Amino acid sequence: MTAPGLTARKTALREITQRRSPSSTASLNGAANGAGPHSTSEYFGINTLGARQMRAKLPRDAYARLASAIRHGKKLDQDIAPTVAQVIKEWAVSRGVTHFTHWFQPQTGLTAEKHDAFLSFDDNLQPMESFTAEQLIQSEPDASSFPSGGLRATWEARGYTAWNPASPIFIVESAGSRTLCIPSVFIGYNGEALDEETPLLRSSDVLSARAIEMLELLGDKGVYRVYTTLGAEQEYFLIDRGHFALRPDLVMSGRTLIGAPPPRGQQLEDHYFGGIPERIQACIAEVEHELYKLGVPIVTRHNEVAPSQFEMAPMFEETDVAVDHNQLVMATLRKVALRHGLQAVLHEKPFAGINGSGKHCNWSLAIASDNELDGVNLLKPGRTPHQNIRFLIFLAAVLKGVHKHAGLLRAGIGTSGNEHRLGANEAPPAIISVFMGAMLTRLIENIIAGKEAGKGAEQQLIKLGVAKLPEIEKDNTDRNRTSPFAFTGNKFEFRAVGSSQSIAFPVTLLHAAVAEAIGELTDQLRETLKRTKNVNDAVLKVVRESFKETSAVRFEGNNYSQEWVDDAAKRGLLNLRRTPEALAQLTTKSSRAVFTKLGILAKAEIDSRYHVRMERYIKDMLIELHTLGQIIDTMILPACYSYHGLLAEAASNATAAGIKSIPQIAAANEAGALIEQLQTRRAALAKVIETAEHKHDDVDGCGRLLTSDGADAMAAVRETCDALELIVGDEYWPLPKYREMLFPV
Ligand code: ADP
Ligand code: MG
Repeated sequence: MTAPGLTARKTALREITQRRSPSSTASLNGAANGAGPHSTSEYFGINTLGARQMRAKLPRDAYARLASAIRHGKKLDQDIAPTVAQVIKEWAVSRGVTHFTHWFQPQTGLTAEKHDAFLSFDDNLQPMESFTAEQLIQSEPDASSFPSGGLRATWEARGYTAWNPASPIFIVESAGSRTLCIPSVFIGYNGEALDEETPLLRSSDVLSARAIEMLELLGDKGVYRVYTTLGAEQEYFLIDRGHFALRPDLVMSGRTLIGAPPPRGQQLEDHYFGGIPERIQACIAEVEHELYKLGVPIVTRHNEVAPSQFEMAPMFEETDVAVDHNQLVMATLRKVALRHGLQAVLHEKPFAGINGSGKHCNWSLAIASDNELDGVNLLKPGRTPHQNIRFLIFLAAVLKGVHKHAGLLRAGIGTSGNEHRLGANEAPPAIISVFMGAMLTRLIENIIAGKEAGKGAEQQLIKLGVAKLPEIEKDNTDRNRTSPFAFTGNKFEFRAVGSSQSIAFPVTLLHAAVAEAIGELTDQLRETLKRTKNVNDAVLKVVRESFKETSAVRFEGNNYSQEWVDDAAKRGLLNLRRTPEALAQLTTKSSRAVFTKLGILAKAEIDSRYHVRMERYIKDMLIELHTLGQIIDTMILPACYSYHGLLAEAASNATAAGIKSIPQIAAANEAGALIEQLQTRRAALAKVIETAEHKHDDVDGCGRLLTSDGADAMAAVRETCDALELIVGDEYWPLPKYREMLFPV
């Protein structure tokens, strides 16, 4: 018996594997690609207009004021805006740009843009290019079509976008056309944050203010800003576009909802750091090429642990630029992969049984000043006792913030995708703890145990080893890959962040937590200084108390072990495995307090963010449930019926021919039992879908239902389906299998 349609599908699958990358042989830097110059440095940033590029184009005074606005994180003066707009227009038009757009980050996890032409007409109706200061500074997209989590109802539907001059303007080239993108914030008419960028900028400002106060108390004067630095390592899968197109689950939800594990997954440990396949190399090189033109400093690329999984990492930058750049990295990966017949899969757990993808956010604090403090990394041990005292108190602040707001940090990475990854074997667990490394742990423990209160500060510092901290070797600190938040010598690495999410929100929460902690430690230090005149001595006292209080959050062992889960529970640390319970942390008393007190989010804005995220979780889950139902109904069951029919027909023919041994009977019975089980489980799935659809207005109840019954129903369907995949004839199976997608031939 033939299986109509299915063979065509198989033919398509076969064709896919024959495909080759269109530009795998062309040199990226050669003329074929239109790039012209050959060395990276010659074309790096040609499509961006940041402060550096504007210097040559702007009058000296205008540039000085623009640079000062950027350096101090302030808004642009209205009276220089026309000059700046003029320079931007001239640059853009000379680069063949026809349109411009405010490029912003609504709470969809993605970016948004609406293009307007430079085209205008003069008094004589002659066509000309025009771009005004108003167009540069502000635009008004319809706020009602973006997630606002109820803010729309509370306030007006209207919102506007406003240029953030600190992030470079850039040109996106697509299908032969060029668009000028103006990085912007997106706010409602009363100033309420509707996007990811606004709270981030507010949190950066408050962190800066708190850190400056602390520094002044320590005697470090002349600091005009403390900013954070960020380097986001992006993990992703690249699979064949044809395979992807044949999987409705990947297309709809970004992950495979069914799929039996192949005999070979990642157990050979042969993929990590292996040679990059040529077709992939061609794609990655083109992604990098595009990113270089946009001024995104990608510096590493390698194979990741899972088959068909890769990583790229940039040189770190100031956080808000790094956040924009990570959006460009994700968008460029998705776009360029298609040119190579590939699909970039950025979901946190696209394939069960092998590693998922994360986005390690390397993060630190740095000083901007006109004196020798400029550029100092506050989380890097120094060479003098004073530098190390400063290092210790900022270290203590990070520990304090993460300890107190671990739930909040967990909420920031709570998405339907990351739910499959956190706590799975390869990813940091849902318990937020901090890894410090052996050397610092010893130092912290010594400080806690320190009994030299009577001794002079200098002697104490020498005795404890603070006076001269050795530069912490990376090898010592970087080994604990299981920690969700690890100190790696001169920065922290927030590893639990999901691969597909915008990093703006997790970082905003980290800023809030650390800003509050710095403020509290500053108050304590100020108090202590009333009694203890020596600053070093006073800092030691303050950090001793703080390290003691936050001991529970430090963990050096294996975060993947069951012992840690038990130990963490005893320490009173949260273990929030499911997204709804993680998101609930956004609205706890201490979370609300930190947001409102620091002016990062007002009460209504917090509630709206909670709702946006819960609604998103519910929508993601419902999309998965519906997709799974449809795949089972229209692809898997029909395939199973065909195969079962084949066995039945063969058995019937054999019986008619008087053949004694009829093995198809047992095979048909085995398949039949599983098919019936699949029908039953599919029916249960339908029930959950129906209940959830009716509960849609009760966000909390619906979320709870989906994360328990919804997830269980999907897991049950998957179990039976995957068992069937292993017995139904290969020719009949309608979906590309794991082995086909992950091991392209
Ligand atoms: P690994 O994590 O594999 O040891 P590296 O330490 O070299 O790799 O860096 C990983 C990422 O951390 C890179 O993106 C790098 O730019 C970034 N990074 C390095 N120093 C800092 C810093 N001070 N602040 C933020 N990110 C940093
Ligand atoms: Mg790393």
